Amino acid sequence: MRKKLKNRNIKVEYSFIKILTGSDLSSRRLPIMSVKSINHGPTIWLTAGVHGEEVGGMVVIQEIFKKLRYNLLKGEVYALPLMNPMGFETSSRLIIQTDEDLNRSFPGDKDGSLAERIADKIFTTIIKTNPDLVLDLHNDWRKSIPYVLLDNFSQNKSVYEKTKSFSYKFGFPIILDTDNVEKTLTESLLKRDIPSLAVELGESFVVNERNVEQGVKAIWDVLTSLGMVKESEGLVGFDIDKNIKGKV
Ligand SMILES: [Zn+2]
Repeated sequence: MRKKLKNRNIKVEYSFIKILTGSDLSSRRLPIMSVKSINHGPTIWLTAGVHGEEVGGMVVIQEIFKKLRYNLLKGEVYALPLMNPMGFETSSRLIIQTDEDLNRSFPGDKDGSLAERIADKIFTTIIKTNPDLVLDLHNDWRKSIPYVLLDNFSQNKSVYEKTKSFSYKFGFPIILDTDNVEKTLTESLLKRDIPSLAVELGESFVVNERNVEQGVKAIWDVLTSLGMVKESEGLVGFDIDKNIKGKV
């Protein structure tokens, strides 16, 4: 196999954020990844695993980073691939110790419940980088197709319009969330004027390769639209029905 040459214009870092200390003094940490170009550009976040049984997004992030480390032209991409490790280890949506939904706990509280404290660490870490876009990757049920979920957000029209324009880049159906679910990561970011979308990539519990491919292609297309990478050949996207293409 030909060894890929390291790109000196791109810096890749993997580290951890400490979230809590166990009763045996073990520490729980969240993995954090970044890839940065020396050329100035947008700051994008990819997050996954807020629901522990939604494992597909974690793989999408790994695949995107494998490509980005050689191909990022400008800007910075950060990722939190596994936000709920306790749920992941027990295949459960919730933080099992407290039965809390981490994605109903944002923006969090450093003196709050376990989920609120973890949410606070995640939220402050993301906000600190002043991001242009945050994509929170989820998985839905066994038969669902991929889609982008747009919050019904009216507080800031220009942020909403910007977020909506990003949603068109995915090539997925776009669903407007009319339930107004509060305290999610995306809703909390939008309230801070940061464009953010939930991306639902097919079934939970398993890594479905087709859904991973479609997720990688969609995110790569978003990064291409921002000039952060070049279009990549050989990626397989979702075959969207022309009747719903470009509609919310
Ligand atoms: Zn989810």
